[in-house]
Amino acid sequence: MKNEDQNLLKALLNGELPDESGRFGSFGGQYAPETLMPALKKLEKNIKIFLNDETFQEEFMNELNSWAGRPTALTYASQLSKRWGVEVFLKREDLTHTGAHKINNALGQAMLAKKLGVKRIVAETGAGQHGVASAAACARLGLPCTVYMGAIDIERQSPNVDRMKQLGTEVISVMSGDQTLRAAIDEAFRDWVSDPENTHYIIGSVVGPHPFPYLVREMQSIIGKEARQQMLDFGENLPDAVFACVGGGSNAIGLFHAFLGDTEVELFGIEAGGTSDDLGENAATLASGKPGILHGTYSMLLHDDDGLIQETHSVSAGLDYPGVGPEHAFLQSISRVKYTSARDDEALELLREVCEYEGILPAIESSHAFVEARKWAKENQGKRILIGLSGRGDKDMPTLSKLMNE
Ligand SMILES: *Cc1c(COP(=O)(O)O)cnc(C)c1O
Repeated sequence: MKNEDQNLLKALLNGELPDESGRFGSFGGQYAPETLMPALKKLEKNIKIFLNDETFQEEFMNELNSWAGRPTALTYASQLSKRWGVEVFLKREDLTHTGAHKINNALGQAMLAKKLGVKRIVAETGAGQHGVASAAACARLGLPCTVYMGAIDIERQSPNVDRMKQLGTEVISVMSGDQTLRAAIDEAFRDWVSDPENTHYIIGSVVGPHPFPYLVREMQSIIGKEARQQMLDFGENLPDAVFACVGGGSNAIGLFHAFLGDTEVELFGIEAGGTSDDLGENAATLASGKPGILHGTYSMLLHDDDGLIQETHSVSAGLDYPGVGPEHAFLQSISRVKYTSARDDEALELLREVCEYEGILPAIESSHAFVEARKWAKENQGKRILIGLSGRGDKDMPTLSKLMNE
């Protein structure tokens, strides 16, 4: 690592990044319309107060433990270890309430919103996992919740739409733009800005304008804190390499953060490689994108030479987003984390291997991380690895059944 990059990493570890203007190096910031700025400034101020407040942290921890099912297990994957020739450990976010890491952030932000005295919550969702987590957290806290979801996603993710409704959440179909996650985020911002005094927007990943990437990372960093300690408790050794899938990047940054200072631990983020490297056929933003602005933040993006945001493709709806969190763009720029991608068919193959040999049905999103882990293991026999298992695959059964029948 270059000297200058080492200083940037040190600044991050010391809590100096994002800086006053919300920057991680050259990435991040607040590219928001004038009307949104007061709400963002107010949120920034309140985050400073509550994230450093012991009572709030204690209440959050209690809810994570007694309602959301933390700490989650660290599983030694004995069969995969034998097959791959490395020691494989899994961090089991699939065991949380509602089935993915999303609940950590949804619960934390809903609790924060309650402290801020807002009257209602808005959220967006793509595959529906963040929508379900928000719906559950809002029901728990007695806050009315509205979730924006693209019309196309509503059609292909109907079980999660029904789950949200069962939990008392209003689901609004977004007919504008691409009618998927990108348009849903636009609508959620629009709703929030129309009444920021009484509304809080629970964004679902480490994306959006400052302070959202910072806020969501803080809510998710529990994953890595637990996993690092569990690895030490297990064998007094840190892993040699850590793998996590990257959509917007929240489960990955949550797992990585505790290891950033352990420079001997290699970190890998795995994006959706879709069906090919061609623009439009994947969602490999860091692996093949260029810098640009989307949803209020400067980060890596999939856009063409005219700056037009590209359609993305992935078999996993949760990774199907043309942007990525600015902290990841930063970590890539200083070479602290390496980003690669896994194709649809590779992810599905590893999903089957994890089912067959470990008795765990991972989400298709999480299966992307296993692809790179297995490749790395081939070249690094005898080492010890940690894989972030971001969620369970039950939600993917319609897709998997369809593929089985083909
Ligand atoms: C939403 C989701 C992802 C992708 O989101 P990140 O913010 O990148 O973590 C990954 N895995 C699962 C199971 C998800 O639900």
